[in-house]
Amino acid sequence: MSSPTPQLQDSLLQGALAAGIGAQAEKVFAGKRLSRDDGLALYACDDIHLVGGLANFVRERLHGDHAFFNVNQHINYTNICNKLCRFCAFQRLPGQEGAYVMSPEEVGAKIRECLDEPVTEVHMVAGIYPKLPYEYYLDILRAVKDVRPDIHIKAFTMIELMQIAVRAKKPLQEVLPELIEAGLGSCPGGGAEVFADRVHLEGYHLKNTGDQWIETARTVHEAGLKSNATMLHGHIETVEERVDHLDRLRLLQDETGGLQCYIPLSFHPENTEWSHLPGPTGLEELREIALGRLMLDNVPHIKAYWIMLGIPMAQLALSYGANDVDGTVVEERIYHDAGATTPQAVERSELLRWIRDAGRIPVERDTIYNVLWSEDAQAQASCSTDAEAATTS
Ligand code: SF4
Repeated sequence: MSSPTPQLQDSLLQGALAAGIGAQAEKVFAGKRLSRDDGLALYACDDIHLVGGLANFVRERLHGDHAFFNVNQHINYTNICNKLCRFCAFQRLPGQEGAYVMSPEEVGAKIRECLDEPVTEVHMVAGIYPKLPYEYYLDILRAVKDVRPDIHIKAFTMIELMQIAVRAKKPLQEVLPELIEAGLGSCPGGGAEVFADRVHLEGYHLKNTGDQWIETARTVHEAGLKSNATMLHGHIETVEERVDHLDRLRLLQDETGGLQCYIPLSFHPENTEWSHLPGPTGLEELREIALGRLMLDNVPHIKAYWIMLGIPMAQLALSYGANDVDGTVVEERIYHDAGATTPQAVERSELLRWIRDAGRIPVERDTIYNVLWSEDAQAQASCSTDAEAATTS
């Protein structure tokens, strides 16, 4: 695996000194943790490419040229939701045009449609529909496993888990073993939004607070499940609130070690209550990738979610701190309802082509980052230790 050269480090340091972020660059090279003030300095730096260069330094130190992807399938089992988040274009009220709930049989049928494809993961998230009984959630997990027993089910964001526990009428600690028994393998990272109470009150006050998200994720990790984490950026949040969000994720990870991957999600204004907001620019998206890599020194992987970023930006992000592009997806609905113009799915061969074109070596992973395939013989041996390296840095 390649590592950043001393020449590259020196050139980055000279640039950082000139741009006023020399102290932050020194910490990055020494593998020291960046403070909240360091995070603010990196957000304030005019030279995004320099910040991206520092993030790329860390990315290559951890992962060399490897870029991870998986072959996955998305299922959004209902779009009915009572949380009324102002940034969301996916939600519908019961009876509203376009509202739907998939039965367990329909979920199973969706899995069957892709049986000929080498799918290793189903990513299953949805709205909060209070009428769904606890058994429904167990049944959709079983429906997936009945059709495809070997598939990994990554399902239920923290707000969904909170709702499932309400319907089960028992604590989440008691619910999780039953979900695992039915087939749950890990949890996604969506729904974290921005943890700050101010943003929560203004944008999604019916949804979980930041504290509740963290508490729920802690419970998930204590149950032995891995999860991811996200931040929805580019709406009404301040830079200070972004740094706060990243720092709180980092503290959670210090405690549990259960976060596999951080995914900055770009706000898409179209068809939302916040359609008057402009949304993030491309350079702002790259800065979020870079800040995630630099601040989250204990989270192994940073994902450039191509569905939201678009393919060209995801390729660029692989040189701004990201080392993962997500997967083949198959019928993404949430961000396409918010105006995403990316394809809803992509062939595995296309993913490989984008990654190679970005100058990286494709590595197919499963959901929990076991290496399944790579063109690089070293990947099998080295990638499995990347996570350990990140969590001990
Ligand atoms: S973001 Fe999730 S919880 Fe919020 S309204 Fe949309 S579907 Fe519901």
